[in-house]
Amino acid sequence: NYRCRSAFKLLEIDDKYKILKPGYSVIDCGAAPGAWSQVAVQRVNSAGTNAEVPIGFVVGVDLLRIPPLDGAHFLSFSDVTDPATQTQLQELLPKAQADVILSDMAPNASGFRELDHERLVAMCLSTVDLAGRVLGPGGSLVCKYWDGGLAHQVRSRLAHAFREVRIVKPKASRKESAELYFLARFFKKNQAV
Ligand code: SAM
Repeated sequence: NYRCRSAFKLLEIDDKYKILKPGYSVIDCGAAPGAWSQVAVQRVNSAGTNAEVPIGFVVGVDLLRIPPLDGAHFLSFSDVTDPATQTQLQELLPKAQADVILSDMAPNASGFRELDHERLVAMCLSTVDLAGRVLGPGGSLVCKYWDGGLAHQVRSRLAHAFREVRIVKPKASRKESAELYFLARFFKKNQAV
């Protein structure tokens, strides 16, 4: 059982696009309470549950406290947009490189749709910065956003840095919510992002 229903969104995305594989290193941005990290731990085998396949690595970050989870490292009370946090992440990663960056981050809703949209776009752009620092060649990124006028800024940065960019709306995501995910695959390392 998962800590939060949001797990089903990542399961659905991964069942379809197979971005998490045993042995992979994963960064989970906005990880609290830890449901996406639970999915990542299972799929990359970072708890070493399956002795037949490679052992992966999962690190989660959140402004809030993330309760411990076997197979995951957590940076609680940390801001992903802070360059010092990004350096810390890089130091934790085996070979200083990630295969996958997940972001289910969201700001606390202000109630003003435009403002919330703008703030989440800024967070997405900082996730793209993180990719530029730590994502390995061929890597993928899943990033939540709320649709609106500035989403194209994120999309064009992603389109420049990855070979493929899709927009996905998992069935597990409430239909009436403006929430969508960018799925960017096949990261072109050394391309300035
Ligand atoms: N994916 C998580 C799960 O399955 O358990 C749920 C994530 S929840 C929808 C969004 C999280 O993003 C919140 O816990 C919030 O504290 C976090 N968050 C928002 N801004 C952040 C930031 N700048 N740095 C790190 N975490 C942030």
